[in-house]
Amino acid sequence: MQKTFSVLQGEKGNNKSALKVNKGIEQPSSFNPEAAKLFKDSKPGLLSIEEYVEGIRSGNRTILSKAITLIESSLPGHQQLAEKIMELCLPLSGNSIRIGITGVPGVGKSTFIEALGKELTLTGHKLAVLAIDPSSKRTKGSILGDKTRMEELATDANAFIRPSPSAGSLGGVAQKTKEIIVLCEAAGFDIIFVETVGVGQSETAVHSMVDFFLLLMLAGAGDELQGIKRGIMEMADAIVINKADGDNLRKAELAQREYKNALHLFPPTESGWIPFVSTCSAREKKGIKDIWDKIKEYEAQTKKNGHFEKQRKEQELKIMFETIKESFNDSFKNNLAVKNILPKIENRVLKGEISSYKAAKELLDVYFKNISADK
Ligand code: GDP
Repeated sequence: MQKTFSVLQGEKGNNKSALKVNKGIEQPSSFNPEAAKLFKDSKPGLLSIEEYVEGIRSGNRTILSKAITLIESSLPGHQQLAEKIMELCLPLSGNSIRIGITGVPGVGKSTFIEALGKELTLTGHKLAVLAIDPSSKRTKGSILGDKTRMEELATDANAFIRPSPSAGSLGGVAQKTKEIIVLCEAAGFDIIFVETVGVGQSETAVHSMVDFFLLLMLAGAGDELQGIKRGIMEMADAIVINKADGDNLRKAELAQREYKNALHLFPPTESGWIPFVSTCSAREKKGIKDIWDKIKEYEAQTKKNGHFEKQRKEQELKIMFETIKESFNDSFKNNLAVKNILPKIENRVLKGEISSYKAAKELLDVYFKNISADK
């Protein structure tokens, strides 16, 4: 580990070299300095912790990207370095509003983010757009990443777009995204969008890391309430019906009324905020400013009543417990003694020879007896 770490730091002043020559002959550098510069630029691992943190703090997006790559990496050396960077960036973070945006594929998420995003960057805000994409692991492709998205924002000096980390479980990806939020905030981004596809459990993960949760919807043909699970609607601070333009305008307004009525049936929110339902046309950039004004209203209200801070603190604890659960699961599944008996026990459960409760207990007993054997 120590070795990896020193390699990561560029082995400054390293005099060990495979090209060692006898004393008396001028010692050539084991590294072409010009190539080293290039290397330093293209290999994230070769920067020092200070260079990363200073680069992030000064808003250098190349260095920010490199630090994010470290966070996403599964190499232990990278993870160690990422942890140190995180630690130093944490005190610089927090000064933003984090907004989750979800909706089914095709609802217009990227068009909406581009429309709202441009509005924000033009007024001097610095916007980071991150994504959590549950499809990327399963299909090796990605619902959010496979098309040219947000072309204007992609070239906007005040915007930073980062696609979803593609490896790992949803929990792992969510954890990494949370860390990326911290780095983006330390780099001075004051508005963070976390985008996800409304097709799975990723909304819950996003909900647990944002201050405001916006659900984008379409006016369907009578199936307004079926496209998205009720649980997701309950999490929403805003429901926005997109594509309220052309022939669709009337349908969108009708849907707006229906959603408003449906929201009345939901329990009151803990924040004291009454979720709003509005319509917009991301394509025609209509209704976008109103939505932002409402989000600002939410921020002011929840900062005043203490919910904003309280929610962030609760999220931190939740993430802590989630991380423990994930690590515990990994450790359990990788435990050799557990691995050895698992197929047999599974079989016995399937045959009805043993209850699942008893099987779990047996496996846990084996795990706890052999836990140190892993180390
Ligand atoms: P995503 O998959 O949710 O990111 O959706 P996109 O932003 O890629 O949009 C899907 C399609 O809907 C594209 O063809 C967009 O041009 C179109 N679209 C997005 N917003 C609007 C809108 O406000 N009105 C109309 N008519 N079409 C839109």
